Amino acid sequence: MGLSQSFIKRMKKKLEKRREEILETLEDLIKRSSSDNDMAMDEGDKSLIHYSLHYLSQLSARELNTYKAIDVALKKIENGTYGVCEHCGKEINPKRIEAIPWAKYCVECQEKIEKGYI
Ligand SMILES: [Zn+2]
Repeated sequence: MGLSQSFIKRMKKKLEKRREEILETLEDLIKRSSSDNDMAMDEGDKSLIHYSLHYLSQLSARELNTYKAIDVALKKIENGTYGVCEHCGKEINPKRIEAIPWAKYCVECQEKIEKGYI
C-alpha cells in the first residue's frame, strides 16, 4: 500500500528543485527591486523571503501557490501522509504525482474543485 520510499525520495528531490527555482525567481525579483529599494537587502533572511513572497504574490499568484503547495508536500513527506488526497483521503495516482509532485487532491476531487462542486 502507498508509494514506495524510492518514489517518494524522487518526488522530494523534484519538490526541492522546484522550490529552488521559485526562490531563484524571488532572488531575481529582489535584485531588481533592490536597485530601487536598498532597504530590502538589509532585512533578515526570513523577512527578506517574506518580502519577496509578498512581492511575488503581486507578480505571480500561481508561483506563490506552488511554493506554498511544495512546502505542504514536503511536510507531508516528513509526517508520512504524502500522496493522499486531502479531500477524499484516497491515494493519488502516482502518475499524477509524477506530473505534479505537490498535488493536494486526486484527479476526481481536483475536477470537482475546478467545477466548483466542492
Ligand atoms: Zn480525492
